[in-house]
Amino acid sequence: MPGNTVKKQATGGRRGGLEQEDSRVLMRLIYVSTGLTIGFFAVLQGVNGNLPLAVLEGAASLLLLGGAHRLAHVRNLTPWIYLYLLPTYSFLIYIIIMPEASVSAFVWVYMIPLMAYLLLGKTAGFIVTVPFAVVAIIAYLIKHPGQLQGAGVIDMGNALLCGLLIMLFVHVYESRRAAAQQLLRELAETDGLTGVANRSSFQRLLDDSIALGERSDECLVLVLLDLDHFKKVNDRWGHEAGDQALRHICACIDARLRKTDMLARLGGEEFAILLRRTDSAQARPLIEALRLQIATTPLCYGEQEIPLSATFGLAEWPVDAKDAEQLYRCADQRLYRGKHLGRNQLIFHDVLPADLLQPHTGLLLSSDHSRE
Ligand code: GH3
Ligand code: MG
Ligand code: MG
Repeated sequence: MPGNTVKKQATGGRRGGLEQEDSRVLMRLIYVSTGLTIGFFAVLQGVNGNLPLAVLEGAASLLLLGGAHRLAHVRNLTPWIYLYLLPTYSFLIYIIIMPEASVSAFVWVYMIPLMAYLLLGKTAGFIVTVPFAVVAIIAYLIKHPGQLQGAGVIDMGNALLCGLLIMLFVHVYESRRAAAQQLLRELAETDGLTGVANRSSFQRLLDDSIALGERSDECLVLVLLDLDHFKKVNDRWGHEAGDQALRHICACIDARLRKTDMLARLGGEEFAILLRRTDSAQARPLIEALRLQIATTPLCYGEQEIPLSATFGLAEWPVDAKDAEQLYRCADQRLYRGKHLGRNQLIFHDVLPADLLQPHTGLLLSSDHSRE
């Protein structure tokens, strides 16, 4: 199965837990609600004449509300999650040991695994939960030493067992949910037959790459390719052979691509290759070598060898087009000109004066008519 699949692209550097946009909504909600709650307590402290605490809580409230505003735009949510969870968890421990602490303050500790697993995913959620839970238990026992004697032992056992069960359920649930989400994402973004990216995920990546190119001043190349006379492959060797040929083509292409390149099946026997941080002059030798490899490496189908070839249209952004749609159209027109010119060739230019239409000129098109 080809390596440059969407799976690799999609999972690189992921945080786990909820999807990025769901996490963003949840984090903003948490920041706003906590900010408003602390703001309310700041007012109460002020009314009660506790000015230092009122100022402290007022400042914390403003910071949280400002943070909620910033959270709408930040790219990396992880620091913001830790920025919230670590002080909050520390505060939950503080309310267990503070001088006038209530015995029931311990129930807030149950929030620790719920929030950590939801926001950070299984692994980081576990790593953050365990030390805070252990410290909370120790803090509780120091504060209420009587809980280790008589009926207190039963209360303590109930609290611990309940906490352990909550953590176990959350852990199992988050593991299953993350695996199901990953599977769904792969199914939605991958072509079932070949394992490479499908049209919609390719479209998304092309749009993102162009947006990135605009910011970083980097060019990119889009190559469209269509297998030649593929209908005849199906007609002569059968549909199963045709399917194998499609997988064979993907394996050939994928073996030559870099990690940052992407191969997708746009539909039928049409594929797209995206070469980021590459211009036309750099891409041409690679694609030409690919064309030659496909044309000279028949598919071994049982005892038989099935010859294959493909026609390629290449376009560079931003030289040939200003946006993704124009770029696609440009590469597509070149591909179809390649078909009209005899197939099994790479077209990377629009202007084709009559004297350059000959094969092997190496100027405006490259081709190999040995299999025509
Ligand atoms: P051209 O060189 O002009 O591209 O000719 P072609 O025969 O490749 O093009 P055409 O569009 O006439 O036929 C494409 C064929 O691709 C028709 C269809 O049977 C085959 N095809 C499309 N999707 C699949 C698939 O998933 N599996 C198999 N085995 N064949 C497929
Ligand atoms: Mg075809
Ligand atoms: Mg086609």
